Amino acid sequence: AEQQEIFLKRQPRSAELVEEASRYLAGGATSSWQIAKPQAVWMSHGAGSKVYDVDGNEYVDMHGGYGASIAGHAHPAIVAAVSDRVRRGTHFAQPTEDAIWVGRELSRRFGLPLWRFGNSGTESTMDAIHLMRAVTGRDMYLKLEGGYHGHHDSVQVSVMPAAEEIGSRERPNRVTANGGIPRAITDLAVIVPFNDLSAVERALVEHRCRIAGMILEPVMMNAGIIPPDPGYLDGLRTLLHRHGALLTFDEVKTGFTTGPGGATARYGVVPDIVCLAKALGGGISVAAIGGTAEVMGAIVDGRYEQVGTFNGNPLAMAAARATLAEVLTDETYGRLDRLASSLQQQMEQTVADAGVRWNVVSVGAKGCVIFKPERVRDFRDFLGVDDRYSHAHWLVQHNGGAFLPPWGKVEQWLLSAQHDQADIDLFARNFRTFVAAVS
Ligand code: PLP
Repeated sequence: AEQQEIFLKRQPRSAELVEEASRYLAGGATSSWQIAKPQAVWMSHGAGSKVYDVDGNEYVDMHGGYGASIAGHAHPAIVAAVSDRVRRGTHFAQPTEDAIWVGRELSRRFGLPLWRFGNSGTESTMDAIHLMRAVTGRDMYLKLEGGYHGHHDSVQVSVMPAAEEIGSRERPNRVTANGGIPRAITDLAVIVPFNDLSAVERALVEHRCRIAGMILEPVMMNAGIIPPDPGYLDGLRTLLHRHGALLTFDEVKTGFTTGPGGATARYGVVPDIVCLAKALGGGISVAAIGGTAEVMGAIVDGRYEQVGTFNGNPLAMAAARATLAEVLTDETYGRLDRLASSLQQQMEQTVADAGVRWNVVSVGAKGCVIFKPERVRDFRDFLGVDDRYSHAHWLVQHNGGAFLPPWGKVEQWLLSAQHDQADIDLFARNFRTFVAAVS
């Protein structure tokens, strides 16, 4: 309560804007997840590793725009590329040469030959499910319990189901995740837990010749962070292929944050389809979908028309090229690894000193604290995490000058190419303050 009072005192202008916005913007915000308690933070600008709110407060940005801002803010290379492109026109609905450069670079990093572009993660996972169906001629698909893949119909099922809705582990319920989503669509999903190959095998046998494929985040990053067990991703590919089904990695979050070639390169398992978005554009909206020659053959021969007015638009392609060529380099990943391990060490030390048994989990530039003693292997384990701790941690970080995603239980921090040791140390110091207050 005390932290909440401090929060509100620091942000009178945000309070006014929330009030004014509610007259013109539904819910007083531009996206439903921006409506946060105790109130949305309205931003003014960002520079390097910092963001500044409309009340003039400075924060080390650990939110990273839901995992998109790995380049940090206003990176000079991206500003230059985007400014140059803006002066020469940003939309023709025809390809420009940067698209070839980006496609070639994504092929090199992810080991998949052919690419297309879109504008959001939602579009890329929607295209992936359509493609899996177009290639196999089957309608059903496997989806993880607790997996988030955007807001189109097929994936709005069992995203964040409550404990009382989920049913048995052997046969999880399909829980529709939003208004306006027809059961006729979500009934095509078969829900399986993460890190459980036998559940996938059972589903493939039960629905023999009806499953087009499976979509998953190779590291679950919308339920804290849950890494794959050794052999899980490889096992999935083998099982799915044995049953004539395809594997899609939704790397919208993991792509570029877990390494230069995402989880695909990090774990050495190349799926049939990779979905990218978020970090690819260095702060400009862009998405990509890559696939094997067999899968993308459905686009080549017109069985699936992958379309969109702004697909591969010049601005997005210029931003993606600058991000990949000049920001997300091997040197940057070396620095990110050093900062991530320094942060992990400091956080683990704090937890150990306080004698609390929480898990600090990080993969690449992303990390989170799981406020639970046991290791979390799937969404059901994650449901037992106490979200009062995450909310309080978020408030303490916020008041101490570090910006995290407002609902800390699900989301994680992200380091950027422009963070430095002082930024990490500030975050670790706030964490010590928080732990001292609650333990
Ligand atoms: N897939 C994953 C794994 C995501 O985390 C998200 C967004 O958070 C999406 C897809 C949807 O992306 P977008 O919000 O750009 O539509």
